[in-house]
Amino acid sequence: KLFNEVQDAKGNIRVFCRCRPLSKGEISAGCTTVVDFDAAKEGSLGILTGGTTKKSFKFDRVYTPKDDQVEVFSDASPMVISVLDGYNVCIFAYGQTGTGKTFTMEGTEQNRGVNYRTLEHLFNIAKERSETFTYNISVSVLEVYNEQIRDLLATSPTSKKLEIKQASEGSHHVPGIVEAKVDNIKDVWSVLQAGSNARAVGSNNVNEHSSRSHCMLCIMNLVNGECTKSKLWLVDLAGSERLAKTDVQGERLKEAQNINRSLSALGDVISALATKSSHIPYRNSKLTHLLQDSLGGDSKTLMFVQISPSDQDVGETLSSLNFASRVR
Ligand code: ADP
Ligand code: MG
Repeated sequence: KLFNEVQDAKGNIRVFCRCRPLSKGEISAGCTTVVDFDAAKEGSLGILTGGTTKKSFKFDRVYTPKDDQVEVFSDASPMVISVLDGYNVCIFAYGQTGTGKTFTMEGTEQNRGVNYRTLEHLFNIAKERSETFTYNISVSVLEVYNEQIRDLLATSPTSKKLEIKQASEGSHHVPGIVEAKVDNIKDVWSVLQAGSNARAVGSNNVNEHSSRSHCMLCIMNLVNGECTKSKLWLVDLAGSERLAKTDVQGERLKEAQNINRSLSALGDVISALATKSSHIPYRNSKLTHLLQDSLGGDSKTLMFVQISPSDQDVGETLSSLNFASRVR
């Protein structure tokens, strides 16, 4: 296959670690940085855990707070190209709330993230290859909240529960979900914004709600009609932080349990894949079940583990880095 730049002896799972800058609030509160980036170019970073103790981690890439969206996307782009060659791909952002998952994936109008850049890149390559191939690109945007799937591009609310079905040829899909055809990059930002804005509907606090749900963008690609079908999932995961037991009751407790369950399920699937286990437990959560076609087999997976530089977050930072090390 053409442009198959990512696949090599190391397997198909990559982990990139990205650290955001200290925020203004953290600076004025006197927070200090616990991350040592001396070996960032070699993919290593150290976390100062108190005194002179330093815990080191190694990933495929380490981004310092100075690395921008262009830099980050340039390393992810070979994976994106492989979707045009018929591979399934999954890129997701994992980490504590406030560490930049949404910044990396969605970005802002001025600093667009992986989602927009991916589609832009796909259109550019599709254009270069337009003499030999025709590509049909469409997108779905959905949310998984409390183990329920919600279509964020649906124009009218439906009471019908969305479920995952397996087609006869083995692929997974959600019958009834909107698949918006996108023909050019001009349409894309507004479609993505519509999806993002729909997350807020029905919740009192937008940021709180989005930190407790998984936001999933699926880009589907058809080559020359139907010959090759492939899917690229771009996922902004729910916050990985553990809530203090005393703080969570009722609805919040249920949310927290569902998040823990789905993030552990994701970790279990990826580590089962990494150790070439014979049983991959996709069915333990809606998240992994949805991603099934794009995790494992000859599909390619990229995980961004997002971290905070602040001394106040060091516990969550270590737990995210440990999670990411487990899947690598
Ligand atoms: P999360 O989605 O993980 O909860 P956000 O993406 O909302 O986190 O990021 C929290 C805040 O930090 C936002 O104001 C965001 O703009 C800022 N931020 C995150 N990453 C970066 C970065 N690499 N550079 C600059 N600002 C960032
Ligand atoms: Mg977010």
